[in-house]
Amino acid sequence: MHQHDLLATHFRLDESHKTALKKLRIATIADLLYHLPTRYEDIAAIQSVGGLIVGSDAVVYGKIGGLKTRKTWKGRRPISEGWVEDGSARIKIMWFNQPYIAKMVVDGAYVKLAGKVSGTQDKPYLSNPEIETIGELPIDRHDSLFKDTGNGDETLYPVYREVKGVTSKWIFHTIQKCFKGGVLETLSDPLPEEMLKKYNLPNLRTALVWIHAPKKAEHTASARKRFAFEEVFYIQVAKQQERARVSGEDAYQIHTEAPHIKEFTDRFAFALTRAQDKAIREILENFENLHPMSRLLEGDVGSGKTAVAATTAYAVATSHRFKSKTLKHTMMPESFANLQVAYMAPTEILAKQHFESFIQYFAHLPISIGLITGSGCFKYPSKVDPKKATDISRAQLLKWVKNGEIPILIGTHALIQKTVSFKHLAYVIIDEQHRFGTNQRRLLARKNSPQERDEKSSDTRSQGARTRGVLVRTTSGTKDAGDKVAGDFARAERLPHLLSMTATPIPRTLALTVYGDLDLSLLDEMPVGRKPIITRIVKNAERKSVYDAMRTELQAGRQAYVICPRIDEPDPDMMMALQAKSVKAEAERLKKEVFQEYRLGILHSKMSPIEKEKTMKRFLAHEIDILVATSVVEVGVNVPNATVILIEGAERFGLSQLHQLRGRVIRSNNQAYCFALSESESDKTLARLKALATAKSGFELAEYDLAQRGSGELYGMRQWGLTDLGMEAIRNIKMVEAARTEATHLVHIDLDLIHHPLIARRVKIISETLHLE
Ligand code: ADP
Ligand code: MG
Repeated sequence: MHQHDLLATHFRLDESHKTALKKLRIATIADLLYHLPTRYEDIAAIQSVGGLIVGSDAVVYGKIGGLKTRKTWKGRRPISEGWVEDGSARIKIMWFNQPYIAKMVVDGAYVKLAGKVSGTQDKPYLSNPEIETIGELPIDRHDSLFKDTGNGDETLYPVYREVKGVTSKWIFHTIQKCFKGGVLETLSDPLPEEMLKKYNLPNLRTALVWIHAPKKAEHTASARKRFAFEEVFYIQVAKQQERARVSGEDAYQIHTEAPHIKEFTDRFAFALTRAQDKAIREILENFENLHPMSRLLEGDVGSGKTAVAATTAYAVATSHRFKSKTLKHTMMPESFANLQVAYMAPTEILAKQHFESFIQYFAHLPISIGLITGSGCFKYPSKVDPKKATDISRAQLLKWVKNGEIPILIGTHALIQKTVSFKHLAYVIIDEQHRFGTNQRRLLARKNSPQERDEKSSDTRSQGARTRGVLVRTTSGTKDAGDKVAGDFARAERLPHLLSMTATPIPRTLALTVYGDLDLSLLDEMPVGRKPIITRIVKNAERKSVYDAMRTELQAGRQAYVICPRIDEPDPDMMMALQAKSVKAEAERLKKEVFQEYRLGILHSKMSPIEKEKTMKRFLAHEIDILVATSVVEVGVNVPNATVILIEGAERFGLSQLHQLRGRVIRSNNQAYCFALSESESDKTLARLKALATAKSGFELAEYDLAQRGSGELYGMRQWGLTDLGMEAIRNIKMVEAARTEATHLVHIDLDLIHHPLIARRVKIISETLHLE
């Protein structure tokens, strides 16, 4: 048995195994060995349902059933109930005031329950237990593997991430068989020995044994440290490669002067915040370089990112007024009179909003602005009325963009369609950048008109934007190749500078990892004079007063959001289905029992993007008063008339996600309110939620989340696909910095990892699994 053997050559796999393994990206034995446990269970701690004692705290595993929700007949308090059985017995479960629970799990699911045994010894029940769905019951203590171990301390067993088709148990047994088959002897460690020594990490063989078949808790910790380091290291290598490649490309050098910028910003109705001013300066400094900028602008909702975008776009659109300082040293063409800017937003509503803001910012200048979306094209100014925008045909707009007459083009995904090409695209701005894939962003970066390029050079372009930079710097022969198409490259092969913007504040360690290829600008300060949102942490008993407060706003002609609780479920499809169900049910309940006189709408991730956008448009047009939604409510969408948000099951969200959600209502000039309703009334939970009412910024909350609960709670982490270990690593700034230092060094000496094939393979696998964007 060898690490690179396909699993299928040693194990009999049926179709469901194969599909599942493919989903987990496990093909070879080595891939399987790198599928690390997410946690350990201690068999000694599991209790059997039959042996529970009234008054004690219990952790049980079993199959759940009989789920339903009813009301107590006196108090009208909702009760969810059901039962759990584990083979030894069955016990009743009751949740008070948590009507959502029965909707979150389905009969027949395997669950882990932790709670108090109440009632009488004849009629015991578990009251308000915490519930977690699990794929499979744990390996029980009579399992052959744990029998006859002799010394009694081997009660830890690993639990693996599973998908439909392979269970944690199957993974466990298969790995143990690989160990027995002698695969460990064939392993070589991708990490060099010096690195292991330097950071005091176990070698691969030892670490694998320690993590998959632990004898002691310390062993698992040491092994986890190694794999955590390794994961962050590979991510860093990928990011540093990306960075090195992009910074090897050419860009339009944009020179500007301070008084010229001041002329523009002095017209604003407000003074720039110190943070906005700094971000603008950082960007303008990058523009002076011959290589493209890659920068992330992070700032809370309302921190004023659009003004930064507009000011820097202005610098680009007017740069022909200035001679580049280094003009004579470059192959810069004589006339690139109008450099161009593309500004991409994830939804049509947002793109239109930006278009309107830009019109205001540029009204006094002879600079045309275009808007392109799926449903039409506009140009400002109109020939007829220079104060207004006019709709024009797509063909006309594209023609003007291609010949350079429109210096600023704003749009949705429509911007990256094949038919769109620019004359001199020098600057790309992407709003809410996490909503786009890396590929989409890359496509936008390649939008300069291909008109004078032959077949061959456009080939070079598409497969690798990225390889060209590499060739130029690593192979001496490339200079000729470069010269051959010099005319083209000099003009069209320049990469635009890139500004990605996001309203999702993330802690520094995470930024270093996830955005390792980008420079960072922070808007960590809000414009003065904003009315801060009033946030109240409320319990179930206060539900009525919350509805009253909402009604007051609705009566004043405002709108509201109701966010349904997060539902954790290992299978994403199942999760979306359950969420959709709970949104529909809650909307119906509110319509029937509370807000009969208002118009309700729903929004959840089972809906198509078109349906979602349609609903948002109706909400924006005030055809909907209350929008009941999952946490998918479009990030960044501005419905200024919405002033209240009620978040159900608030304790299930991370603080930064709660912050993100309440950001939906802080766009208004009216006082905004956020009600975070917690189903749990434990002091710890309430204390954590209190931070929401007191924290000064999203950054503060994100750091707090990371420290308190792990990055799993951070907004967006789940989509990124980092493993639990990677997340653990991210809590450790020293580890992240060490991994970054090592990765930078490695990329510096071996950009394409030609001399490090084992690392290259792991990096490839990791880049495929992660969606860090
Ligand atoms: P976001 O960062 O969420 O994209 P916007 O750029 O949309 O924020 O700005 C939100 C609002 O704040 C806009 O109406 C904008 O005109 C205003 N604004 C931006 N910067 C400032 C500032 N420095 N002082 C006061 N208001 C500002
Ligand atoms: Mg914005």
